[in-house]
Amino acid sequence: MRTRFAEIPFHPLVFAAAYVVNSAVAAGIHPSAGGRALLVAVGGAATITIAMSLATRNRHVGAAIATSVLAAMVLAQAARIGFQVASRMAPWQSIIWLALIAATLFLCFRLVRRTIAGTSPRGLSRGLNVLSLILAGVVVSTAFLSSEAGPAISELVEGRSPARAGVVANPEASPDIIVVLLDGYPRADTLERIFDYDNTPFLDDLRDRGFFVADRARSNYTWTQLTLASMFHMRHLEDIPEYQAVASREVPERRGVREVLNTPPAIEHLSRLGYETYAVPPGIDWVTLRSVDHVMDSGTVSEFEYHLLRATGMDVVLSVLAPDFIGGQHRDRILTAFESIEAAAAGGPRPRFMFGHLLSPHMPAVFHRDGSFRRPSLSDNIFADLRLDTDIASDDWVAMYTDQLTYLNSRLLQMVDTVAAANPDAVIVLMSDHGSGVDWYWSTAAHSDERTATLFAARTPGESNVFQPDQTPVNLFPMLLNSYFASELPIHPDRVFLGSLDLVEITNPDDRAE
Ligand SMILES: [Zn+2]
Repeated sequence: MRTRFAEIPFHPLVFAAAYVVNSAVAAGIHPSAGGRALLVAVGGAATITIAMSLATRNRHVGAAIATSVLAAMVLAQAARIGFQVASRMAPWQSIIWLALIAATLFLCFRLVRRTIAGTSPRGLSRGLNVLSLILAGVVVSTAFLSSEAGPAISELVEGRSPARAGVVANPEASPDIIVVLLDGYPRADTLERIFDYDNTPFLDDLRDRGFFVADRARSNYTWTQLTLASMFHMRHLEDIPEYQAVASREVPERRGVREVLNTPPAIEHLSRLGYETYAVPPGIDWVTLRSVDHVMDSGTVSEFEYHLLRATGMDVVLSVLAPDFIGGQHRDRILTAFESIEAAAAGGPRPRFMFGHLLSPHMPAVFHRDGSFRRPSLSDNIFADLRLDTDIASDDWVAMYTDQLTYLNSRLLQMVDTVAAANPDAVIVLMSDHGSGVDWYWSTAAHSDERTATLFAARTPGESNVFQPDQTPVNLFPMLLNSYFASELPIHPDRVFLGSLDLVEITNPDDRAE
């Protein structure tokens, strides 16, 4: 039995799987969103193991090399962070720091060499097999202890709760509804003041197409996940019972928010009205609406997968072998989102609701003004939302943002024209979940106007005065559904909050004293 256990060196596959599962649990993503990364990691580990086994004519040596490669990938990222830390220190501090890193690596290397020198290849396989199973056990039990795996398994088994197909009281009076969320799109006065960018031509083009533009629109919250949870629950966070466990930190934030977002009363209401519901995901899983009839995922690399690539140094390898890959994937996601919205706009037998969440003009900037590809730098987290979290100068950030926004504007007008031509009665809402982050930083009150002033424009054929000039997302669905269906949903005060778990209300958001 002991010998058999050592015959098959499976440890590279178990190490790779444990690493991905641990990352997925930490990121709070839906289990299905980690499947592809798991397959790639295990498949990659198996490929290296087989290739090295053939090359060395010894599967135990081959597997040991594969596990060493995996360890080196993770260590490389640790070393990269170490060097980044060192580069920000005073010279004498960085010398001590680098000496400590070198000494640690040297000691590890010696320890590994001594262990290997005194062990047969088969003994090494047995040891690493045991070690990999212990690590997998730790990952799984930690997940259970933090009550992550229980819900994760039930989510996988149950999937989403099926929307109840309602009866359409009056199909002719039920317009298709398309809500396009442009992540981080600032209000026109912010674009003027901070970006030195005149957005009035675009807004006038929208008005010419029958849009109402809310020129004092704000977000109720400064972060995507909070705006979405509140909007789809049609009430403020403090009034959502399920959210209280997140706010009191009883459940991990990311998983908790994702679960709250995915019990959306607004979608249930639309389903009862007979709507078939669609969502185009942004590529950030924990802020993804999945509780709809059709999730239209482009299948391009997600933010979770991007962070795995970074964490294993694969982004550096890709920057040499396929420098356009990561930015190109994000660009494809945005372009595919437009195409999905346009394709569904022709309508069907049942009225349709579509929520398209585009992570743009939010970073990464992957479009030049004319729509051609702009390759994002791999030196920073390309998904960084706040300039002050990066080393990018204000002028450069502003230029990237406005170039991308210029292209988006033209693509949006094209989308609006395509949808309106195919489906003249369609309701179209263009909005953002929060403003920009040029000067605003995390939860500070300074520059909160920049962060909370947003785009909001809506085309509501057959109905006027549906929305308000100072519209906020919490009232999007109540005002829309009350107008078209006399739904009598309660309207909430347009309150604005800073912070994430600990919310602080801004009593006078229009006061720009900074
Ligand atoms: Zn956002």
